[in-house]
Amino acid sequence: MMTDNVFMKIIQRTIPARIVYEDDLSLAFHDIHPQAPVHVLIIPKKEIRTLDDASKDDQALLGHLLLVAQQLARQLNLDKGYRLVINCKEQGGQTVPHLHVHLLGGRAMTWPPG
Ligand code: AMP
Repeated sequence: MMTDNVFMKIIQRTIPARIVYEDDLSLAFHDIHPQAPVHVLIIPKKEIRTLDDASKDDQALLGHLLLVAQQLARQLNLDKGYRLVINCKEQGGQTVPHLHVHLLGGRAMTWPPG
């Protein structure tokens, strides 16, 4: 996993991103290397490195991220369905050390994931 938290820099606007949604708790932007016609990342503004670092105090925040994903899926016309992914740490394939939910859609997804 990278040590540099590029997503914090996106929150702070020190590096650019194609932001599609923002509120007090979260930010969403297009993935720089899209794996599907729609590939958006939803992140908490609070610095949480991995899902393993979230606690009971983050329960409402985690639920909020899912509802933002649902709202964005609606806005982005993913009425046929979509996939949400959270990669956690090295074996989960996480590369950026800031919790994020991938919203993938616009094509049929396959299973199992790689
Ligand atoms: P993960 O592998 O689950 O940690 O996902 C990290 C994702 O962040 C990857 O899909 C990258 O393409 C994406 N990514 C990395 N840097 C940026 C960036 N500066 N702007 C947008 N997406 C990024």
